[in-house]
Amino acid sequence: MQYPTPRRQIIDYCMKMLDDGLTLGTSGNISVRVDDHVLITPSGVPYPDLTPESICLLDMAGHQLEGDLKPSTEVPFHELIYSRDPKAAAVIHTHPVYGTVAGTLCDSLPLIHYMLAPHGGSVRVADYARFGTQELADNVSAAMAGRKAVLLRNHGAACWGKDLAEAYMLCDYLEWVCKVWVIARTAGTPALLTTDQFEEAMTEITGSGYLPGSRD
Ligand SMILES: [Zn+2]
Repeated sequence: MQYPTPRRQIIDYCMKMLDDGLTLGTSGNISVRVDDHVLITPSGVPYPDLTPESICLLDMAGHQLEGDLKPSTEVPFHELIYSRDPKAAAVIHTHPVYGTVAGTLCDSLPLIHYMLAPHGGSVRVADYARFGTQELADNVSAAMAGRKAVLLRNHGAACWGKDLAEAYMLCDYLEWVCKVWVIARTAGTPALLTTDQFEEAMTEITGSGYLPGSRD
């Protein structure tokens, strides 16, 4: 079995994602790119039942090399993110409550808080397509330019980074900003940052090491 350490890290982040309420049941999935391989969670297995052997090993074209279980249905968009963003080495897909709500209300998450800076700016909403399809992967591709996150219309969210720690941090902050925006929108008409205000904050955050992983 190749890559035992990243397999274990994937399981640890799956449990964290579940414990933190960023997804529910068997929904969501996590992958890591190592060299020219992708490790990804299997489809339909409860996270507490995952073992290192149950994580699927794929090549960069999505062909399964190791593992007896069926890989996640979302292999197409994980592989697409890796092919589009050479710095991406971990992808986390969640079904978070506020991120999913926000994805039904806007085409691009408004700049309500500067903690969208680590994501690269206003996170776009990928058009709806059924889970597991190449069409969904294509819609993610159309929404991801210059960002490290997308919202998926009527579905959830996905974030990626140089490692699992960064991808997870982005998922966590994205859900927090979506919660702020959804609650503010429910209460009234929220004030938004101007592009200049946001870019000033983004320069400070990305240049100062304000967040782990934010220097890239
Ligand atoms: Zn999903």
